[in-house]
Amino acid sequence: MKYRGDHTQKFYQSREWRAFRARMLPRLRPHGCAYCRRPFEPGERHLQLDHIQPLKENWARRLDPSNVRLLHIGCHTERTHRPDRRRPVNNDGLPDDWV
Ligand SMILES: [Zn+2]
Repeated sequence: MKYRGDHTQKFYQSREWRAFRARMLPRLRPHGCAYCRRPFEPGERHLQLDHIQPLKENWARRLDPSNVRLLHIGCHTERTHRPDRRRPVNNDGLPDDWV
């Protein structure tokens, strides 16, 4: 199964995404991981800025600050491989059974 199309792959290497990520990281970091709710360690570098609504579903929201959340890389991997990840999300941008 193909996870990302070519244009989304290119997008994640783009300057606009990197600039957006650099802007969002300090904003989201104090809130901790959106998946496990644990705070990030002071030197924690393994962070993943994740799109709540995936790019392939809504390309227009790729740089929308309300469409991203910060996760541990490990949590992101876990989420990505959940069989129910395509469920509708609630107002927090999290599937109903996340918390
Ligand atoms: Zn986490």
